[in-house]
Amino acid sequence: MVLSRRAFFTGQRNAVTGAIALPWWRHQAGCDGCGHCVTACETQIVQLRAGAFPQLDFQRGECTFCAACVDACPQPLFHPREQRPWQQRIRISHHCLSFQGVDCRSCQESCAQQAIVFRLTAHGIAQPETTPQHCTGCGACIAPCPVSATGLHHEPE
Ligand code: SF4
Ligand code: SF4
Ligand code: SF4
Repeated sequence: MVLSRRAFFTGQRNAVTGAIALPWWRHQAGCDGCGHCVTACETQIVQLRAGAFPQLDFQRGECTFCAACVDACPQPLFHPREQRPWQQRIRISHHCLSFQGVDCRSCQESCAQQAIVFRLTAHGIAQPETTPQHCTGCGACIAPCPVSATGLHHEPE
C-alpha cells in the first residue's frame, strides 16, 4: 500500500488504505520524504516509497517504541513523547486457525505483554482472547500468524 500525498490520515491510520504511520504521528504536513526515519528504525519496519509518507510494515518486525524515528525527523510532525504512541490495539479475525479447529498459538507466543491468552472450549480446542488494555500495539504478533488473522485497529481508550 502506498500513501499518496493527498492521502487522508485519521490519527496514525490512513482512512483510505488502513496503513499505519509512525508512532506519535500527528500529521503529515511538512514531511518531505527525507527518509531519516527509515534509516533510524532499529527493527527496519519503516517503509517509504517514492511520493509517499512513511508507514510501518509489521511483516518485517515489531515496533519497540524506541522513538529513534521521532528523534531522527527534522520536522515537527509528532505528538509529545509523554503521550501514548498510538491507539492501535490487537484484534483477531475469524480467520484464526483455532476457530477452524486447528491448535495454533503463534500469536500468544510472540506477545511479551501477555495480551493474548488461549482458553479451552467445550470442543477441546483452545481459542484466543485478547486483553486490549495490555496491548501496546507493537505488532509483534502480526508476522507470526500463518493466516494473517492478527491485525491492529484504532481503539480510543
Ligand atoms: S519507534 Fe523505533 S522501532 Fe518503532 S518505528 Fe520508530 S524507530 Fe522503528
Ligand atoms: S524523517 Fe520526518 S520528514 Fe523525513 S521522511 Fe521521516 S517523517 Fe518524513
Ligand atoms: S500488538 Fe504486541 S502487545 Fe498487542 S497483542 Fe500483539 S504482540 Fe501483544
